[in-house]
Amino acid sequence: MEVLSKCTICGSSRVREVGRGGDLSFSHDEIFVFSVCLKCHVFFLSTRPREDEAYKFYGVEYDPYTASYTKLSELFIRLRTLRELDSIVRFLPPRDKKRLLEIGSSWGKYLLLARNERNFEVVGVEMSNAMCQKGREEHGLLIYPGDLRNQDFSPSEFDVVVMNHVLEHLYHPKETIAMIAKILNKRGVLLLRTPVVGTLEQKIFGKYWHAYEFPRHVTLFSEKNLVDLLEQQGFEIKKIRYEGVPNNLILSFKNFFQMKLGSGVIANLFSIKNPLMLALFSPLSFLLGFFHQSGRIMIIAQKHK
Ligand SMILES: [Zn+2]
Repeated sequence: MEVLSKCTICGSSRVREVGRGGDLSFSHDEIFVFSVCLKCHVFFLSTRPREDEAYKFYGVEYDPYTASYTKLSELFIRLRTLRELDSIVRFLPPRDKKRLLEIGSSWGKYLLLARNERNFEVVGVEMSNAMCQKGREEHGLLIYPGDLRNQDFSPSEFDVVVMNHVLEHLYHPKETIAMIAKILNKRGVLLLRTPVVGTLEQKIFGKYWHAYEFPRHVTLFSEKNLVDLLEQQGFEIKKIRYEGVPNNLILSFKNFFQMKLGSGVIANLFSIKNPLMLALFSPLSFLLGFFHQSGRIMIIAQKHK
């Protein structure tokens, strides 16, 4: 474990604790602390596993690796992905073959759609060796183990880089964005999806907010933090969308009941596989998204030099 007294993004020592908690997905005894930087307003895990110990908090049973959704959610994700690939293509200069890299691709669900339905050449990077192997063996996908910093990609090698809910996990987010800027072509596009702080959703749930996800999320950004980070690396923001999906609401209630009553019947009702919960929370999450107050943001940014 390590305890940080300075902001991991701007280096300021004007920081304040905002919440503490344990790992609710796996049984570990440690308590972790989130702090906010009073200068740049980024939230960062200030008592956290050391970088070389972080892998211990991602088992093969880690949810995004094994996640199964309802048929309706799967259909929604598929249509959303195809629509978003189409909107990315509109930003790109015409080219016969477009290369797409997904960082944190897991076994490659997104890559498969990009390859099979939209004719991209696709490559993934993924921390879990088991998921790299699954993508290779079951779908013939090229997925490299490790993170972007272990790879040897050439400058301007890709037209598109996708990072879905990955930035918040990284110990070197600024460096990773700078590397993405290098491996993207001129006019290349980055699609980023991450939790977002400074929103009503975050304020309502406080320490029960799902997006803290102790200790796997180490940095949580505001919209302004993200825009600054991207613009500093030569990106121009093309699109910002606050996502109105009910996952954070349902899972924050789950955290609340789990912390109050333990993981029993009530906490288990709050599942994103429960159609009743999806139906119950979808209208509210739609409204939060519409008013830019939901806890998840999607940004499309294009390299302008
Ligand atoms: Zn800061």
